[in-house]
Amino acid sequence: MALNEFSLIEEYFSSLDKAPGITLGVGDDGAVLDVPEGEQLLVTVDTLVAGVHFPLDATPADIAHRCLRVNLSDIAAMGAQPRWFTLALTLPDANESWLRQFSQALSDDAELFNCALVGGDTTAGPLSITIQLLGTVPKGKALTRSGAKAGDAIYVTGSLGEAAAALSLFGIGDSVAIGCESEREILLQRFYRPEPRLNEALQLRGLASAALDISDGLLADLGHIARASHLGAEIQLEQLPVAAWLTSLAEPKRVIEWALSGGDDYELCFTVPKENGSAVNTLIEQGELSAGCIGRMTNELGIRCLDAEGNRVNIEQSGYQHF
Ligand code: ADP
Ligand code: MG
Repeated sequence: MALNEFSLIEEYFSSLDKAPGITLGVGDDGAVLDVPEGEQLLVTVDTLVAGVHFPLDATPADIAHRCLRVNLSDIAAMGAQPRWFTLALTLPDANESWLRQFSQALSDDAELFNCALVGGDTTAGPLSITIQLLGTVPKGKALTRSGAKAGDAIYVTGSLGEAAAALSLFGIGDSVAIGCESEREILLQRFYRPEPRLNEALQLRGLASAALDISDGLLADLGHIARASHLGAEIQLEQLPVAAWLTSLAEPKRVIEWALSGGDDYELCFTVPKENGSAVNTLIEQGELSAGCIGRMTNELGIRCLDAEGNRVNIEQSGYQHF
């Protein structure tokens, strides 16, 4: 390695620690952080391994964006605000061009999403990136998976299925008929730069009874809310938020599968009690919340999918295998 561990950290990772609440950032044995009065600390961590969680030819910027954003999405799912993060970086070699692009992309996203790099670890080995994100939330206000009640409406933000369709660009699953370069670009962006629903999540504090982010597919993740809340759920298939252009890429059955079982969309799925329904719908009508109702929680356990006539539809849960 031309750079030793310390000069590498100094050059690429020591100046991303500018944010409120940092008494001590990168450079000491640990960071010293101030949790604002009346708030609770929220901690989440995700590891991305080359060839497992992203293709081996992913650009350094793509990897940085994805790694930070999947963690930001977890913080959003808890109704919290991101503050600080640590980075454990395992690198095959100290490639300066790679490091420059990676740290620049990380810095851009850190600024965009108001969080700062306060420490980490750097080792040699097969490429793997772990980001641990720390967020804060007013005491008692974190959104969890376990608060849903029977009859609560189920909502999903944004649209589903595009990240699953993107996997076909990496040769996973059947290929898709991409119409033009811009469609390919949208799919790749969707995979590498998921949009953490941080603003949406803040609006849902006090309105949603349960929430999570969709990383493993709607059926699997809604299953987590259902189990944690000791309930089941009904989904109206015709209400699934699928971008119109996506339906031109494959058979309807496959598009529905993308939306139900494909992971990586990082939209939020949340439940809303009847008494908060009109407040949530007003936010949606006023354009302050991009979300739609897709079903409701039930006392009957299990997740059921219904067609427009109310008939039950059996969905094969393929569950996407990454790389
Ligand atoms: P120690 O041996 O005490 O664990 P290190 O040599 O691993 O310390 O790291 C020195 C300093 O650099 C620490 O403050 C650590 O948090 C920071 N650091 C190490 N690697 C990274 C990284 N990839 N990104 C940000 N900070 C890092
Ligand atoms: Mg260390």
